[in-house]
Amino acid sequence: MTQPKPSSPPNKPTPKQGVLDIAPYVGGQSKLLKGAKANPGVRVVKLSSNETPLGASPLAIKAYAETASYLHRYPDGNTIALREAIAEVQNLPMAQLACGAGSDELIAFLINGYTTPGDEILYSQYGFIMYKIYAQAAGCTPVTAPEKNYKTDVDAILAAVTPRTKIVFIANPNNPTGSYLTATEMKRLHAGLPTNVILAIDGAYSEYATEIVDYSDGRELVASSENTIMLRTFSKIHGLSSLRVGWAYGPPDIIDVINRIRGPFNICGPGIAAASAAMRDTAYADKTRAFNTKWLAWLTTELTKLGLHVYPSITNFLMIEFPPKNYNGGKHSAANANLHLMELGLIVREVAAYGLPDCLRISIGLEEDNKAVIAALTDFLKS
Ligand SMILES: *Cc1c(COP(=O)(O)O)cnc(C)c1O
Repeated sequence: MTQPKPSSPPNKPTPKQGVLDIAPYVGGQSKLLKGAKANPGVRVVKLSSNETPLGASPLAIKAYAETASYLHRYPDGNTIALREAIAEVQNLPMAQLACGAGSDELIAFLINGYTTPGDEILYSQYGFIMYKIYAQAAGCTPVTAPEKNYKTDVDAILAAVTPRTKIVFIANPNNPTGSYLTATEMKRLHAGLPTNVILAIDGAYSEYATEIVDYSDGRELVASSENTIMLRTFSKIHGLSSLRVGWAYGPPDIIDVINRIRGPFNICGPGIAAASAAMRDTAYADKTRAFNTKWLAWLTTELTKLGLHVYPSITNFLMIEFPPKNYNGGKHSAANANLHLMELGLIVREVAAYGLPDCLRISIGLEEDNKAVIAALTDFLKS
């Protein structure tokens, strides 16, 4: 009997199954799209990545600069100074905090630590796209639950849980829709999940929502269960996007898993220094929040007056809906609005990749930026 011939090995390195199915993340543009032209002389303003227009706290910038003489030294692999600052300001137990190179890295740690290929990662229809990318990278199946009115639907999430579900990711408030689950709804979601499934509450925009009475960042669920973790970032209200620092508050066992699989020095020294100072500068964060609250309300009112559908947001961005492509020859479509804004140097975010081709997401900018957006869209809709 002859043995079947083993198939010959590929003649070049081949990525593992599923990797080439990943659609690479496309971030908010920081330049004008290819082919689009800003009118001569316009100031280009980036409103596409939900960054704070006010920049980082001056104390954080100073702390960052002071690390310049120590760049040849490894950073503190246990991020003690940073976790101390978070623990003090947030009134959380330091031993239950872990840091990541952005909260993105923490998403990846959870998936790598708790899944094997074929497991399912569950999130909402318009949930943050990184959940899908990291799930695919780990050989897991991304599963979405349909939303009702552009908001996470607790019952739909619970109905989508299977024995293979390992982690449910809920961005609260969510990007790109700006909507949120109330503390009561989140509690109901948690109560309906099997206790072996992790509920990861991604609070990238939590700090903007602290004055919303029925909202919670989820810390009471973390404190009272063994399967809830809260992910946070210094990239949004703290204005340190470039340094890549995020943090998690979770049950001791999950924090232990993160500490076992993370790189030994995953947060850089300048990041530790700047983020510690930013966390302690609560006055600056308060100022940024107050600024945002004011201009979020103003933009919501003005965009609504223009006849656009504005999805209510408790974040530092707004999702707005334009007339569909088949209406009036598509003259006032989101894609055309985007081109018009670009001509005026205003870079916003298309969200077609999220399945929202008629919407644009606009980050709250400086006063003059917000006013420029309204002026531009007023012109656009008149044309
Ligand atoms: C911006 C954002 C993050 C992560 O940002 P990092 O810069 O990686 O900390 C996570 N989740 C959501 C929903 C975001 O919008």
